Amino acid sequence: MSKKNKPTYHPETQAIRIQSERTSHKEHSGPLYLTSSFTYDNAEHMRAAFADENDAYIYTRFSNPSVEEFINRMCALEGAEAGFATASGMSAVFGSFMAFLKTGDHLLSSSSIFGSTHTVITKFLPKWGIEHTYFDITQPETIEALIKPNTKMIFVETPSNPGLDVIDLEALAKIAKKHKVILNVDNCFATPVLQKPIALGVDLVTHSATKWIDGQGRVLGGVVVGRKELVDEVYAFCRSTGPAMSPFNAWVLSRSLETLHVRMARHAESALALATALEKNPHLEWVKYPFLPSHPQYAIAKKQMSAGGGIVCFEIKGGLERGGRFLDKLELLSLTANLGDSRSIASHPASTTHAKLSEAERLKVGITPGLIRISVGLEHLGDILQDIEQALEASK
Ligand SMILES: *Cc1c(COP(=O)(O)O)cnc(C)c1O
Repeated sequence: MSKKNKPTYHPETQAIRIQSERTSHKEHSGPLYLTSSFTYDNAEHMRAAFADENDAYIYTRFSNPSVEEFINRMCALEGAEAGFATASGMSAVFGSFMAFLKTGDHLLSSSSIFGSTHTVITKFLPKWGIEHTYFDITQPETIEALIKPNTKMIFVETPSNPGLDVIDLEALAKIAKKHKVILNVDNCFATPVLQKPIALGVDLVTHSATKWIDGQGRVLGGVVVGRKELVDEVYAFCRSTGPAMSPFNAWVLSRSLETLHVRMARHAESALALATALEKNPHLEWVKYPFLPSHPQYAIAKKQMSAGGGIVCFEIKGGLERGGRFLDKLELLSLTANLGDSRSIASHPASTTHAKLSEAERLKVGITPGLIRISVGLEHLGDILQDIEQALEASK
């Protein structure tokens, strides 16, 4: 668990300068504490550590200096009091659910959510008697009426994966507060560089650090941040159930945070330029990007995000079959399950990640047959655009 964040410098400075305490070697870069446990001077010191009477580390499932460095940097970026880091984004999401939900509780969630989150909500939470209702993220006016006396939490992703739908977090936070419900936001697509949900009134923020935060497709990770009293519950659940982040991954991710601001600026600049260029492409039905004026929630995106992020979606004319042909014709872009990498990635959800759903189920979550999702990397924009254009032409 993190110590209290001292907001003296700008968040981007803190993401670089917050560091675990220097050892006697006076190293410049934060060391990697690859150890499962910690030692004590004597029995009394050990007793006090276990009694929570001092700050001594005990065991890496609970806390570790390298992991804490990553958490403290994330808290500074998100403007959060406290955080807990997990082995993956899904363990962060699951931990944020299980710390607060019990049998008989109700979770109100957007239906436009990551596939594994959907599986947790619909297949596993019911095993513990936790019920849910999905709402349409594009119809926020329906949400308040769906809150029940046993509703404990509202969960959303904005922008959503893969549909890039956006919801007004400030307005949603007001509803959550009025009904004393925890508002939990997956901020993976925006990152704290482009969107700060806590400043808008959100209670808990979850992340897959695997994506933009790592930024180079190397390690898995997740984090939950928010008010200390809420994060204490997540910590208590995770400390005993064991989804701790590896110190190695934390060390890698802390280095990644030092470049997150410059990377996100470039990803977003290229993504906007790509989306603008593709809007004129005759092979496409439509292009979707939060900072394109044609995006249905453009005004909300402009209000709560400082840039549109690194994901661009479009609908290819010719649907499901041509979507597959388009992937086959790409020469530069990678075909891979990840996103948020320095290398640009193309995916076709209808034939891959969401192939098990029926067409009707896919349409309900905004996955049209020819939907292509591009994770815009850090290569030269001209090369990314040229590869997409030639693959569109060749897949006719
Ligand atoms: C990838 C992703 C997750 C899950 O993260 P993992 O690190 O793969 O466990 C959760 N939410 C969103 C929006 C994602 O894109």
